[in-house]
Amino acid sequence: MNLKDKVCIITGAASGIGYGIATRFVADGAKIVIADLKLGLAQQAADALTAQGPGVAMAVEMNVTDEAQVNAGVAQVVEKWGRIDVLISNAGIQIVHRLEDFPFNEWKKLLAIHLDGAFLTSKACLPHMYKAGSGSIIFMGSVHSKEASPLKSAYVTAKHGLLGLARVISKEGAEHGVRANVICPGFVNTPLVEKQIPEQAKDLGISTTEVINHVMLGETVDHAFTTIEDVAEVAHLFAAFPSNALTGQSLVVSHGWYMN
Ligand code: NAD
Repeated sequence: MNLKDKVCIITGAASGIGYGIATRFVADGAKIVIADLKLGLAQQAADALTAQGPGVAMAVEMNVTDEAQVNAGVAQVVEKWGRIDVLISNAGIQIVHRLEDFPFNEWKKLLAIHLDGAFLTSKACLPHMYKAGSGSIIFMGSVHSKEASPLKSAYVTAKHGLLGLARVISKEGAEHGVRANVICPGFVNTPLVEKQIPEQAKDLGISTTEVINHVMLGETVDHAFTTIEDVAEVAHLFAAFPSNALTGQSLVVSHGWYMN
């Protein structure tokens, strides 16, 4: 199972987990689309990946909450490479507050990036996948697709929602050979997590070391962060799997935090 010449759109891939998945896929010979907010950063990432090879990468500017930009970005990819084999809806943010303090505009912003983003990018890619009779859609969920934590009402709600959307797509897409699955990582040390360590320490009234050791890694089997490479490996499995046998599923990659 490899991804040679497969056209893979990855949102939020200028940084963090998305970039790590792109790195893994390019090493396998894939054609990667770095879809991110700022074209300059997306282009830098795409250039670095193409230099790495053997696959290639292109950049598109895409705010995943903007329907016109999503459709234009997907059209650009189809014009250049003629098809879309894999969509990884990965773009995401974190905002932490106690529920009673959660500003409504921040709640809506978070839900829009995670849920509208998954909906709009899937809606734009599915017709191309249906035409080809195959495709793989992967949502970046989280252990918070299955588990709750204080301060994360919007994030937990959004990540649970992605499970439902993936299951519907897996049912609607099956007759067209299109699969949909969710990756559920534990804490991965990326800019998204680094930002929330001091924020959580302040909101919970504990030290940053306690946030890392107790809040983030306390439920793991070995007190270890999940790595970007771990998540990329699961993404590769879902992307390259050849049949509808693996669809409508979610896989937790978290050093044992949350077992089911
Ligand atoms: P990150 O902050 O390093 O990267 C997120 C990327 O998304 C950035 O490049 C950013 O520019 C982009 N982005 C943000 N809003 C966007 C928008 N509206 N349109 C397009 N792009 C946008 O974060 P990360 O840790 O790599 O997170 C990636 C995904 O993994 C997120 O969905 C996150 O919820 C999920 N996740 C992260 C962890 C973790 O511990 N880091 C754990 C579980 C799940």
